[in-house]
Amino acid sequence: ELSDDVNDYLYKVLVVGDLATGKTSMIKRYVHGIFSRQYKATIGVDFALKVMNVNEKTIVRLQLWDIAGQERYGNMTRVYYKEAAGAFVVFDVTRPETFEGVKKWKQDIDSKVFLPNKKPIPVVLLANKVDLKPDGWGQTTQQMDEFCKEHRFCGWFPTSAKENLNIGTAAKFLVNQILNEN
Ligand code: GDP
Ligand code: MG
Repeated sequence: ELSDDVNDYLYKVLVVGDLATGKTSMIKRYVHGIFSRQYKATIGVDFALKVMNVNEKTIVRLQLWDIAGQERYGNMTRVYYKEAAGAFVVFDVTRPETFEGVKKWKQDIDSKVFLPNKKPIPVVLLANKVDLKPDGWGQTTQQMDEFCKEHRFCGWFPTSAKENLNIGTAAKFLVNQILNEN
């Protein structure tokens, strides 16, 4: 039944991070429920839409922006970031250099996009491919918490696109942060 008092929001959410950290896999898993070993790295930007029923009165349409073939530069243009409401930064727990890359991505976001009230957009850090490192990957929970505090991520999650671990949870968390800012 259609109701007048349903709020329907559309939010642009960026998914950035170094090459092959699992950005596309994460989006495909979350939006289409699938995992495959190989996704074509088409150059440009890909979009995916996920509709979330947050509660009886709130619908959120997440427009997920996947970068393709531009990761090696470690930054994107202002046009790409324009009007984003939130972002995920992804690293690969099997490759420590991609964790180093996280700082550069966060700085890039913070220098190029702001909320209407001039505050930085909420950004969530995703430690992906934890299925490959069941005994840990060199950062403790406490170290990750401190890293997030220092670099102003609003939270982090260990994820696996392969095993479907924490991706929906991370998206819900980010959406709640976005709703709190709006
Ligand atoms: P992107 O360049 O960041 O978009 O990375 P892709 O999504 O193309 O993934 C790169 C490779 O990592 C592919 O071979 C994926 O199958 C693999 N991959 C992505 N996520 C996971 C994961 O959670 N676990 C495992 N084991 N492999 C993953
Ligand atoms: Mg990709």
